[in-house]
Amino acid sequence: MSEEELLAFDKEHIWHPYTSMLNPQPCYLVKRAEGVTIELNDGRKLIDGMSSWWSAIHGYNHPELNKAATNQLKKMSHVMFGGLTHEPAIELAKKLIDITPDSLQKIFFSDSGSVAVEVAMKMALQYWHSKGLKNKNKFATIRSGYHGDTWNAMSVCDPVTGMHSIFNEVLNIQFFAQAPEISFHEHWHNDDFEQMKLLLEKNHEKIAAVILEPIVQGAGGMKFYNTEYLRLLKAKCDELDILLILDEIATGFGRSGKLFACEHSEIEPDIMCLGKALTGGYMSLAATLTSNKVAETISNGNQGVFMHGPTFMGNPLACAIANKSIDLLLSSKWELNVKRIEKHFIESLHILKQNHNVKDVRVLGAIGVIEMKENVDIAKLQKQFIDEGIWLRPFGKLIYLMPPYIISDKELTFLTDALLKILQNDKT
Ligand SMILES: *Cc1c(COP(=O)(O)O)cnc(C)c1O
Repeated sequence: MSEEELLAFDKEHIWHPYTSMLNPQPCYLVKRAEGVTIELNDGRKLIDGMSSWWSAIHGYNHPELNKAATNQLKKMSHVMFGGLTHEPAIELAKKLIDITPDSLQKIFFSDSGSVAVEVAMKMALQYWHSKGLKNKNKFATIRSGYHGDTWNAMSVCDPVTGMHSIFNEVLNIQFFAQAPEISFHEHWHNDDFEQMKLLLEKNHEKIAAVILEPIVQGAGGMKFYNTEYLRLLKAKCDELDILLILDEIATGFGRSGKLFACEHSEIEPDIMCLGKALTGGYMSLAATLTSNKVAETISNGNQGVFMHGPTFMGNPLACAIANKSIDLLLSSKWELNVKRIEKHFIESLHILKQNHNVKDVRVLGAIGVIEMKENVDIAKLQKQFIDEGIWLRPFGKLIYLMPPYIISDKELTFLTDALLKILQNDKT
């Protein structure tokens, strides 16, 4: 098929994320990707500023990750996890238990971030159920959050600006506190935690767990909140017997400057969700980790077992790639790379604060965010980006950058120069 035929079929039949089947945004046909470059079918090469949504931290088509995949393929790409186990999963569990906070000792593998969140929420419910506290069955969270697109994950996404407002009437009603307002770099004041504190004090008998993204709120608004918020939240949860679920699906594996964002606040959750960068962007795999206390309480309950078991649980191919990806990360100078990207974003994007279309510019770790005053015209901007040779995918009012950690200084400069050129020239 010609490129036109391929794109015509795609447009006619294939749903893309959050798009219409009648009037979809344009899509670009990709031929291959390598390192930090995405090559379109027509030969145009784009410097990638997205890491395919937080995931491709080592860049594309990585020889070591390719080798890990082909080596595992020669043995088996999958076997069921019921009654069978294998080294790739065991090795990965060891690594993850080793690098995540000490209290996390039990691990549940699943196939995507949203499922990892469902599993986490189910763990929290089953924990209280096993203790005979069946009324502790609601969740509390903060506004502007994002936890995935499945049913319960959706119920704790931002209820107003979130992408799921049409489902509100059939979703479980959860408790929402306002999003923290004091940012990562601002001076802390306890007022910012007051609403959550009151909400928890009033409703703790109904609340199984608080779930939120630590420090970085991703798809719900790309905001960086204060470390003290999370510290106070953890203390309050402990005091009131509420579990704390941290969704590190976006932040995990170094993106915020720490290996896991909860390290900024020096706290440990009861349950943690991982996904996205887990396989270095190669394939879908996620994990939910929890403490001995939670796992043992669930196992002591009426049911005696944790009620979940996806078909592709612990997929060996995905685990083998994840193992290699973690090795690559830990043996690389990832902290220096993230710092280098952070410094570059601070220095290069700063000037946009003077742009009259720009509301805010913020940077944390290898994440740069430009918040515009108005919603952007995605299709128009996307075309301009591609014409300048870069790949960024804005949404709403947000244009954000989170390149693979291996991006060179030259590529970084190319990326931000192109972005500045477009935004500074845009008179609309
Ligand atoms: C992407 C994301 C999810 C959902 O992960 P999927 O793999 O897309 O299901 C959940 N939580 C956070 C914080 C995310 O960024």
